[in-house]
Amino acid sequence: MTNIILFGPPGAGKGTQAERIRDNYNFLHISTGDVFRYNIKNETELGQRAKSFIDRGELVPDDVTIKMLAGEIEKADDKNGIIFDGFPRTKAQADALDDLLNEQNEKIDALVSLNVDDEILIGRLKERGKTSGRKDDADENVIKNRIQVYYTETEIVKDHYKQQGKLHQVDGVGSVQDITKRLNNVIDQLI
Ligand code: ADP
Repeated sequence: MTNIILFGPPGAGKGTQAERIRDNYNFLHISTGDVFRYNIKNETELGQRAKSFIDRGELVPDDVTIKMLAGEIEKADDKNGIIFDGFPRTKAQADALDDLLNEQNEKIDALVSLNVDDEILIGRLKERGKTSGRKDDADENVIKNRIQVYYTETEIVKDHYKQQGKLHQVDGVGSVQDITKRLNNVIDQLI
């Protein structure tokens, strides 16, 4: 399997591009944000635990997130790999992911970082907020908090994989198709 982390701040386009990668390469797409939203909508115990953090633009605690992720990875059996979208978001999550994959004789092959300036991110998230129905996109303070949390808690995950020689940087500004091409160029070298 080829296992890739699609990385970047909120609004970088991870979700959009991850779906295209999933379809192009027959990968399992794991979006932790989508799994949380599904659980909130269905009022599960996990959803109830996660909701207040998500509404404030904070990270859901690592123990809750890691446990959920472990369950999702098990669905990858008949796939060519996994595309992780929104995970790992902390150093502890990165360590847990490496351990989980290691137990199955698997590993992360690459972290692909989508690079987009903050002003563009804020604009995209506000625009998405008009139609997404996502509470965390509707409030500019929550948007700014999410971007802040990215820099304080999440960005170090890049260094974790850079030290392993697995960091790839991709310009995340341009048309959806152009960015997909840039990502495909990177992924084609990995599979
Ligand atoms: P975005 O990248 O636009 O912020 P996501 O759908 O990836 O959107 O995540 C939405 C929210 O879900 C995050 O702001 C956070 O509260 C929570 N979340 C998602 N993934 C994680 C994670 N790996 N660890 C902790 N919280 C997470």
